[in-house]
Amino acid sequence: MELLIKNGFVYDPINGIDGEKMDIAIKNGKIVESVHPKKAKKIDATGLTVMPGGVDIHCHIAGSEVNTGRLLRPEDHAKDFERKTAITRSGVGYSVPSTFTTGYRYSRMGYTTIMNPSMPPLEAKHTHEELNDTPMLDKATYPLLGDWWFVLEYLQKGDLKECARYVAWMMDTAKGYAIKIVNPGGLEAWGFGRNVHSIDDQVPDFGITPREIVRGLAKVNKMLNLPHTIHLHTNNLGVPGNYVTTLDTMKCLEDLATDNKPVAHITHMQFSSFKGDGWGTMSSAAEEVAKYINNHSHITLDMGQVIFTDTTTMTADGPFQYSLYELSGHKWVNHDVETETSAGIVPFRYRRKNVVNATQWSIGLELALLIDDPWKIFMTTDHPNGGPFISYPKIIAWLISKKARMATLKKTHPKAQKRSLLTSIKRELSLYEIAVVTRAGQAKALGLKDKGHLGVGADADVAIYNINPEKIDISQKYKTVRRAFNDTAYTIKGGKVVVKDGEILQHVDGCTMWLDVKTAEQVKVDEEIKRKFREYWTVEYENYPVTDHYLKISNPITVKASV
Ligand SMILES: [Zn+2]
Repeated sequence: MELLIKNGFVYDPINGIDGEKMDIAIKNGKIVESVHPKKAKKIDATGLTVMPGGVDIHCHIAGSEVNTGRLLRPEDHAKDFERKTAITRSGVGYSVPSTFTTGYRYSRMGYTTIMNPSMPPLEAKHTHEELNDTPMLDKATYPLLGDWWFVLEYLQKGDLKECARYVAWMMDTAKGYAIKIVNPGGLEAWGFGRNVHSIDDQVPDFGITPREIVRGLAKVNKMLNLPHTIHLHTNNLGVPGNYVTTLDTMKCLEDLATDNKPVAHITHMQFSSFKGDGWGTMSSAAEEVAKYINNHSHITLDMGQVIFTDTTTMTADGPFQYSLYELSGHKWVNHDVETETSAGIVPFRYRRKNVVNATQWSIGLELALLIDDPWKIFMTTDHPNGGPFISYPKIIAWLISKKARMATLKKTHPKAQKRSLLTSIKRELSLYEIAVVTRAGQAKALGLKDKGHLGVGADADVAIYNINPEKIDISQKYKTVRRAFNDTAYTIKGGKVVVKDGEILQHVDGCTMWLDVKTAEQVKVDEEIKRKFREYWTVEYENYPVTDHYLKISNPITVKASV
């Protein structure tokens, strides 16, 4: 019950602790002031680095698109499998691993909380079944709401209050955590084989534009007091020249930031930061994007870093996946989810010697290094879109070491090397900044009060890495650091030691967090919504909601809305 982590170098940015040698006391799954010095179990962390457990704000690990990815790619299972042990179950999959393997692999890297970012509400039950089956981690998932007909209808009518009530209803119904918007308006258009190409294009049949959807839902998000901002995948993602649309999107939200707090999180920014008017001239817009972010405080981002490897791309952005299919000629799944969203899946290999891929790799790192404040941009690969999450230690090495980046850049296509801004960037992130971009910043942006830090009252989720910052120069010895972030010395989840030296010691189940949003007036679910169910959906209303008991460990977070 009691645990004392002694004498480690602690990096806890939320509490301003930067590599101080100190003890961390744990009791009943929480961080406490002190424990009984004789009764408590001790971990000697002398010469080791101690951080809060990792938090991943955006990774596709569960639900129908992930499972369809698994079905589409037997070759992905064949090349990567894990044998069962006395404690762990067997599993397969490199870029789309099975549920248990996903949990173990995150835990070995010191991650304890993950957010599954794109759930069609119609497929919420499947998503939660897989999340239930993903051990070692606390988790949550974001329902896709940017193209949901109810949202489009009420926003078009200008009835924000009613729209907010439906969104609140959906958080409970789908057991969701945040409003996810993907290519706003474009997914609805894709139902008719079309797309939108700027934030002021009309969405077919709805008399509304992407600008109105994004602004409307950002306002709804505020009215509901949701812990996270809207979580946004911009229009024109993956299209050369798209940084103009990205800047337009960020600008259209400026006036909503009244209290200096973020109003939107733009996800996998790398994919939205392209210059050029075609693939031949595609180049990095990281400088323009970073300049904007450095001068504003209403947006947070994550990287969407590309890794040179074979992976599986999957997104609700159906039209984007269609272009990727046309570019790659690879297998492709296209899926239309009734009144809610679309989806596509395409296997993809990022190659060093491909100019576009190498430029994408560079853009992700340029963004992370040119944006001054690490609390504004977080480390992700948009797993598995930019590459599998097991590549995180590689990204850490590139961020802390110019030598590591140059070693990789040198192997890329000469044209990409010439276009890359990395040669001129000297910045190397410190361990403190790494703790921000991999846990503290993400927890803060998500509004997770008990995560991402080691202050009294926080969840006892801790990662201990075999790095002695007094003994090694991390920028030079980046390979040592990379190894350390691959396999923790210890991972502690909810006060239990679950990993030691990269080996799983015990199986634990994490909780599923979801928002129980209290609005003054409930959605008039009865007749109106039931009628629409009969008209719009192929499922009965009674079969749609995910009930509380459906979740293995349900962790509702009560939110008091101002509507
Ligand atoms: Zn994503």
